[in-house]
Amino acid sequence: MKIPFLDLKKQYDSIKSEIDPAIQNVIDNTAFILGKSVSDFESEFAKAHNVKHCYGVSSGTDANHLALWAYGLKQGDEVIIPANTFIATAWGATLCGATPVFVDCDERSYNIDPKKAEEKINKNTKAVVAVHLYGQPADMDPLKSITDKHNLILAEDAAQSHLAEYKGTKIGGIGSVTSFSFYPGKNLGAFGEGGAVTTNDDDIAMKVKMHRDHGSVKKYYHEIYGHNYRMEGIQGAVLGIKLKHLEKWTDARRAVAGKYREQLKDIDAVLLPEEMSYAKHVYHLFVVQVPDRDKLQNYLNENGISTGLHYPVPLHLQKCFDHLGYKKGDFPNTEKLADNCLSLPMFPELSDDQIGYICDKIKLFFKS
Ligand SMILES: *Cc1c(COP(=O)(O)O)cnc(C)c1O
Repeated sequence: MKIPFLDLKKQYDSIKSEIDPAIQNVIDNTAFILGKSVSDFESEFAKAHNVKHCYGVSSGTDANHLALWAYGLKQGDEVIIPANTFIATAWGATLCGATPVFVDCDERSYNIDPKKAEEKINKNTKAVVAVHLYGQPADMDPLKSITDKHNLILAEDAAQSHLAEYKGTKIGGIGSVTSFSFYPGKNLGAFGEGGAVTTNDDDIAMKVKMHRDHGSVKKYYHEIYGHNYRMEGIQGAVLGIKLKHLEKWTDARRAVAGKYREQLKDIDAVLLPEEMSYAKHVYHLFVVQVPDRDKLQNYLNENGISTGLHYPVPLHLQKCFDHLGYKKGDFPNTEKLADNCLSLPMFPELSDDQIGYICDKIKLFFKS
């Protein structure tokens, strides 16, 4: 059997009859940049996340930048960020000229540890970024009391967590501002690059909208600095169709996770991901921790099973951040995760046969 880490073709085949005419419609109207398909998607996406404003942008990375840029972050400002995340979380800060300040994650949730975040606050701190890693919301209540107390921005990087819930509330409007990614492999993926920024703050929403489109509301009148971070019409059309299926796909991901749990629970060597009591996890990734991770990954690969590593090198040990002076040993939970993590195949269409095959191979590996 050959099992890919992610199967985008299967998903496309299931919705081809809806997607193709929607794309054709954008072409027929030559509405290639922003336009109706994007604004329709923006209002549906905002509704789905119970948040007032949503702006479609050119990528999740650009959304991370816009989220902090809208607050005027600049050189000398510090932004507190978990060390275990994708690098693009940090680009949000660096693109503003600000400095990322890394903290360790909690050993159970794998999300930012609020107590450790608070220890890093000083007079230059402007924001804390809560990444809802792998699809599980960070612990927002303690983070919110810390950022309220110190008068800081609480940004959410929700690139991996569309429709996830914290204590029964959809993420996307809990903090000050939230960024999403629609990279094709994300839970909601475009047919190219895409992202969004959501917020309940009217003033910040207006800034995001203007920065996204050359600092203007009226064409050729530029009131503030800007960039070209606009979403393409075809992406808006694709995302609008896919959004209608997202709840069903999320349920399917959760079902896959449940089957993995059931079949792997008796293997002592496999540490399963914990779904925290406050979280509705949307399982962008199903990440286990195992000893001999590289050996298991090779073994699975030899048996036709593709897996992933999220992430093999924590941000504080990336070469591009050498100048910040972090060293190995600074963040034990993050470093242990980097050494032992293995992401099993995870997509809504993963079949029972495929899950059974994967789990049998893992059992066999640890028996020998
Ligand atoms: C994917 C991802 C991003 C970046 O999104 P792009 O759309 O690829 O630019 C940012 N943060 C996290 C946590 C991500 O997983």
